[in-house]
Amino acid sequence: MPSSCSTPWQQRLNDASQQRRNLNQWRQRSTLSSQQGPLVERDGQQLINFCSNDYLGLAASGAAALAHSAQRWGLGSGASHLVCGHSSAHEELEQALAKHTGYPAALLFSTGYMANVGCINALTQRGDLILQDKLNHASLIDGALLSRADFLRYRHLDYAQLQQRLEHRQQQLQQRQQQPQNTQALTLVVSDSIFSMDGDLADVARLSQICQQQQALLMVDDAHGLGVIGTHGAGVRSAFDLGAAQLPVYIGTLGKGLGGFGAFVAGDQNLIDYLVQFARPYIYTTALPPAVAEAMLSNLERLQDDALRQTLNQHIRYFRQQASQLGLQLMPSVSPIQPLMIGDEAAAMAISAELQRRGLWVTAIRPPTVPDGSSRLRITLTAAHATEQIDTLLSALDELIPESLRSATDNALPSQGSTL
Ligand SMILES: *Cc1c(COP(=O)(O)O)cnc(C)c1O
Repeated sequence: MPSSCSTPWQQRLNDASQQRRNLNQWRQRSTLSSQQGPLVERDGQQLINFCSNDYLGLAASGAAALAHSAQRWGLGSGASHLVCGHSSAHEELEQALAKHTGYPAALLFSTGYMANVGCINALTQRGDLILQDKLNHASLIDGALLSRADFLRYRHLDYAQLQQRLEHRQQQLQQRQQQPQNTQALTLVVSDSIFSMDGDLADVARLSQICQQQQALLMVDDAHGLGVIGTHGAGVRSAFDLGAAQLPVYIGTLGKGLGGFGAFVAGDQNLIDYLVQFARPYIYTTALPPAVAEAMLSNLERLQDDALRQTLNQHIRYFRQQASQLGLQLMPSVSPIQPLMIGDEAAAMAISAELQRRGLWVTAIRPPTVPDGSSRLRITLTAAHATEQIDTLLSALDELIPESLRSATDNALPSQGSTL
């Protein structure tokens, strides 16, 4: 439509879209015609899939359980949890998730995005402070922006800066408390466990210690850790050997390592009872289909099998070893997320397109998802990959990654985190 006859609204949409295209940041969806797995079909082409968060390969395998549960429960939940959508399937899954992650109680949410937004907003009020790692997931950032609390970020993994900000806050509050009408202002510290675009791991033991010292509440989003780290995949609390009270607000999602759909908050019974009262994204949305909740139990059961995690960790070690021999610039990640930093948007897109031509699917992640100039290929490994598929990826990368993006240093061993 010519701009001369466009309305201000059309103008706004067109301008923003055009700017996205100009910056090489235009996003497009890919349409699958197969199940999730290490091999997928896309637009008639078979691709080896290195983009999925289905780290244990459980997304496809829950089909029989789901079919069985659907016979019993049908498709829809019919309503929200507080009206008539709450079933014994939800109850059972909540109890199993609490037990698996080592908490007294858990509360199901329909998605991780909603769990994060709901939890942050139920917990905080005007005058409080929310402190977040700069690279936290968008849903955590959005949760804080939606709240009425003050919101500050600290540099990625920079716990000295976090501590400074907390101390500064304490001083401010002491001054403020001399005015009697103020209710007590509190602080919430929020971090990803494994960072979704970098794959590195927060030092949750350190976070816990700092929060206890400063009387701040700690909330950790373990979307990429549940199923992958900790004893039997119990997640980040277990990986750092913390008690439930040392990591009081735990967020887990069911769509990644657990291969399904949904999310939950785990904590003590008081927290969970409180969230049922005050978490709006819990209250004002349709409950997860009960058949999905029930089918999740069988995937949760599969986490007991350590062989899946052993295979996954072998793949991670193998990929890092081989990639580092090729001089590829790995990031300090011990997780299934193994990004290769490219920098420039167009270059990242071009390499991703060429990989696709060769039957390999690796997404290029660009701003605004990641900071400017840090476009990358986000490679994710799963237990379902075969070593030969990883070899195919490595030899293609060897041909496609220019020398200018390689280093001579051997960076196979990440400096931090030996918890996997
Ligand atoms: C994927 C993700 C979420 C969102 O979970 P959904 O269930 O997909 O909405 C939240 N936090 C992190 C860190 C994630 O990676």
